Amino acid sequence: MPPKTPIIYSEKCLGYGNWHIEGPQRVKKAQEILSAKGYQFMQPEPASEDSLLAVHDAEYIFNLKKGLVEDSDTPPYDNIFEFARLSAGGALLASKVGGFSLMRPPGHHVGRNGKALGAATRGFCYINSIALAVKTLGKRTLILDIDGHHGNGTQEIFQGDPKVWYVSVHRHPTYPGTGMVTEGNSINFPLPVDCGEQVYLKALDNALGMVDFGGVEVVAVSAGFDIYQGDLASLGLDEPSYYKIGRRILALHKPTFFVFEGGYRGEINGLCIDQLLSGFEEKMSF
Ligand SMILES: [Zn+2]
Repeated sequence: MPPKTPIIYSEKCLGYGNWHIEGPQRVKKAQEILSAKGYQFMQPEPASEDSLLAVHDAEYIFNLKKGLVEDSDTPPYDNIFEFARLSAGGALLASKVGGFSLMRPPGHHVGRNGKALGAATRGFCYINSIALAVKTLGKRTLILDIDGHHGNGTQEIFQGDPKVWYVSVHRHPTYPGTGMVTEGNSINFPLPVDCGEQVYLKALDNALGMVDFGGVEVVAVSAGFDIYQGDLASLGLDEPSYYKIGRRILALHKPTFFVFEGGYRGEINGLCIDQLLSGFEEKMSF
């Protein structure tokens, strides 16, 4: 058996937003499940303030640090800048060790200056952690976004970047309302509510088929679990669906890391992360 993918986690990420749907339970229960299944854990360090300028404008970072950025989805919690820096540090560590960063807050909706591509809010996101990891690594990267919402922030940051492909299969209609068309290096596949696994996997295969893998050195997965049936952006998937997604990521044969995005039920998140990584790790059965 190959070693399990390390999980990047710090219990510090549980320290805010008890009342919010993007709350600590979505990570805490998942961590407990993965721990019981024998996964190994690594502790992240916060991303340095300077490093954030690779993906965000200085003014946005200044205002975020001061608690001056606020919208109806994304509250200015006390010390949220520190929580977001630690979550970004999780993505950085995941990119170095080929791990899965199980940290919050998520990041894929936040662009250079906050709200991205005309979205109404930052969708629970403060710092774009996966974008920071990809920029810092500096390699030719496929970002595969399997969250049920379009990663408008990530697309905005990398639009036109010759080193990066951004691929997203997501639900429409729902927040943020972007990602309706493929534009250059951003490949977008919107799908109807509860379309089911077959339709989803076909769209995923079609989307991946549009990428020129000759130049890709690394795969970075924005790993959201809100397409699970009944979750916030349900496409009607279940646990075995995530195993099948993991197999498709393995079939790309590239060094890969994962960054947690959405998914609002901790137990489901834990079970689906295990299925995703089990599919990804089962190398011998190919
Ligand atoms: Zn989402």
